[in-house]
Amino acid sequence: MTTQRANGRPRVVIVGAGLGGLQTARRLKRADVDVTVVDRGTSHLFQPLLYQCATGLLSEGAISSPIRHLLRRQRNADVVLGEAEEVDAEGQTISVCRPDGSSMTIGYDHLVVAVGMRTAYHGNDEFAQYAPGMKTLDDALAIRRRIIGAFEVAETIPDAEQRREWLTFAVAGGGPTGVELAGQIRELATLALQNEFRTIDPGEARVLLLHGGDRVLPSFSPKLSHRAQTILDQLGVETHLGVHVTDVTADEVETTSKSTPHEVIRYQTRTTLWSAGVEAVPFAGVVARALGVEQDRGGRISVEADLSVPGHPNVWIVGDMMSRDNLPGVAEVAMQGGRHVGAVIAHLAGDGTERAPFRYHDLGSAAYIARRHAVVEAGRLNLYGYIGWVAWGIIHIAFLAGMRNRLGTVMNWSATLLTDSRRERAITYGDPETARRPYR
Ligand SMILES: Cc1cc2nc3c(=O)[nH]c(=O)nc-3n(C[C@H](O)[C@H](O)[C@H](O)COP(=O)(O)OP(=O)(O)OC[C@H]3O[C@@H](n4cnc5c(N)ncnc54)[C@H](O)[C@@H]3O)c2cc1C
Repeated sequence: MTTQRANGRPRVVIVGAGLGGLQTARRLKRADVDVTVVDRGTSHLFQPLLYQCATGLLSEGAISSPIRHLLRRQRNADVVLGEAEEVDAEGQTISVCRPDGSSMTIGYDHLVVAVGMRTAYHGNDEFAQYAPGMKTLDDALAIRRRIIGAFEVAETIPDAEQRREWLTFAVAGGGPTGVELAGQIRELATLALQNEFRTIDPGEARVLLLHGGDRVLPSFSPKLSHRAQTILDQLGVETHLGVHVTDVTADEVETTSKSTPHEVIRYQTRTTLWSAGVEAVPFAGVVARALGVEQDRGGRISVEADLSVPGHPNVWIVGDMMSRDNLPGVAEVAMQGGRHVGAVIAHLAGDGTERAPFRYHDLGSAAYIARRHAVVEAGRLNLYGYIGWVAWGIIHIAFLAGMRNRLGTVMNWSATLLTDSRRERAITYGDPETARRPYR
């Protein structure tokens, strides 16, 4: 099935060096193949700690590692910086747009697509300009700019009503990301920023958590949801359940009750953050059209048991973009799937014929609520409070790529615990065109 290159080795092109794609590349280290990893960024990002970067606890460098550095000892792998834009299934090539705007074509014998998801606004794309989501480092830095900027603006505003708008933060979505973000904004306000301002009391910051379901963290057991809610209440996060966010503007967020739709509430806020859904990135649509396969409602592509695309045994989907057996879009599915595809390709490249089915081993999930409080669920094991928090910390350190990042993160967490301070609060101006409105 594989066409051989001049050097006799099949070429494996992996698009996306996130949690799934990197594992595929690494699993192929000793395989008789040439690996090309294509990513639109230079760094492999650990998304589960993005909210800590957004709230000034960790630097962007602590939660990301250069892809080239991670693969420096893998002689059969090279890295291309660029955005994959097209697939020619017949010719077995992809087109990649390089940072200078030029295009290059890369041939493949196996194509592994691991491009992840992006924030979804469910038909309300106009919300995006006012309510950023959190999927990339740019997103985290933009959110940091808004949060830190809001306190700074509030400090300079004499009118109490207006000041209150700047000190109100709304988070849409009560899954792990929304809960973590809401909790961290309160901790930032009540601990790290205390004593640093002269006019405002940052501790007065109002944090609204707006969620459509009847409990936060719906993917966890009701018991752990309840524990999380108790801690959020103690932190001072104002949770509103059973509501849809129906409008977002520069200075307002509107919610509508799901059970009584005439119940519409508008909150005056200058900072709304979005963690209420994801959808496939545009390249997923490109792949689906090129291969003539369907996408599900979230844009995912269904795969065979071995994670290849039906009718295209040399094209593989890994991670969040893959749809099979209702597997969730979480780190472990991506990482195990990535390793599985790497193993099958290595086997085929060694003249094997067996295409082993992917078997997912659910190792559980974890969410951070506040310092000394996290919830961890693994099978029937439910951990919460201090023990949950320690378990959460160990899991996240183990998953971070690179020893330097692990050590740096442990040191940073320890310093924050001892001193309450958060030092990663630098804000950048982002796009020069919007530099005059850095908090928008
Ligand atoms: C804020 C947040 C918190 C999370 N917390 C948890 C958690 O606590 N526990 C958990 O299990 N999971 C968590 N997740 C989910 C987990 O991070 C994802 O399931 C996982 O990252 C998916 O891996 P992936 O390889 O599919 O995609 P990603 O890790 O998203 O990687 C996709 C890669 O593809 C690249 N890419 C995209 N399009 C292109 C293109 N056209 N060309 C080239 N490159 C491209 C991107 O730059 C990126 O490097 C969280 C996610 C987020 C956003």
